[in-house]
Amino acid sequence: MVSVWEQLEKKMPAWLEESRKQARSGNVAAYIPELANASQEALGITIYNGRTDMITAGEHDMRFTLQSISKVFTLLLALMDQGEEAVFSKVGMEPTGDNFNSMLKLELVDPGIPFNPLINAGAITISSLIAGSTPAEKTSRILAFFRELTGDPALTLNEAVYRSETGTAHRNRSLAYFLKANRVLGDEIDVEEVLEVYFKHCSIEVSCSHLARMALVLAFDGTDPVTRRSLIPRRYVQIAKTFMLTCGMYNESGSFAIRAGLPAKSGVAGGILAIVPGQYGIGVIGPALNTKGNSTAGVHLLETLSTAFDWSIF
Ligand code: GLU
Repeated sequence: MVSVWEQLEKKMPAWLEESRKQARSGNVAAYIPELANASQEALGITIYNGRTDMITAGEHDMRFTLQSISKVFTLLLALMDQGEEAVFSKVGMEPTGDNFNSMLKLELVDPGIPFNPLINAGAITISSLIAGSTPAEKTSRILAFFRELTGDPALTLNEAVYRSETGTAHRNRSLAYFLKANRVLGDEIDVEEVLEVYFKHCSIEVSCSHLARMALVLAFDGTDPVTRRSLIPRRYVQIAKTFMLTCGMYNESGSFAIRAGLPAKSGVAGGILAIVPGQYGIGVIGPALNTKGNSTAGVHLLETLSTAFDWSIF
């Protein structure tokens, strides 16, 4: 009998080319000017299993920045630094149904805490909870954690993307100052320092194999199946995976949960990190985004795979 892995290996190139056609209907993000340079038609994927056998296809070696995908892992680091109670006194647990950079609901709930840690307001708040006395110290702890998760000691920031975002991030700045006005960011917190940490972790540069390795640790409940080291407590992975399912794909999280049924997180550079619990870690890049902000070809490819192998967790 042909194993799932063998079928994946055999069929992946054709599935990838089929999904690549979807890229034509999307648009590369341009609100961070540096991201606009990415190739519209690129599509790549890496899948790892628990023995770290790897399947790759398309432009899987392409480099891109994590953007919102980093929010899952800064949440995990904040949980490890501060514990569940402290984190959830500052951010909520509910999807918003609004855009990722929306300000709307910050006015609605007393005391004005962000609805969840994956929208920008929530992730900026999470950046303020990372242990460390300076932005440099917080950033280097984030980088050290991400290097451990990817197994790549050379992982680093794309400085051009960082500068491009920090120079144009008027909306994120206004969100952060609004959080300060709501006292979600307390008196002791310098807004520009929090934003520096946030923009820097969004600018960490990866390839699909980095994403797939990070996903694999989550797929195995926080233990790296390669090194057998426990990197994240299982409870925190459970929290992160729940947010990925309910809020990880922006306002498309509901339909992605129905069509693919996998915990996943996307970013505006076109990356998607997806998990098949207990089995696979998946990294996808496809810079052309649909109107919801997700990689149009990447979503198509993940939905194709999940349907073919009945991967839905439901
Ligand atoms: N750095 C991006 C921003 O704050 C991340 C957004 C995203 O990937 O959704 O706008």
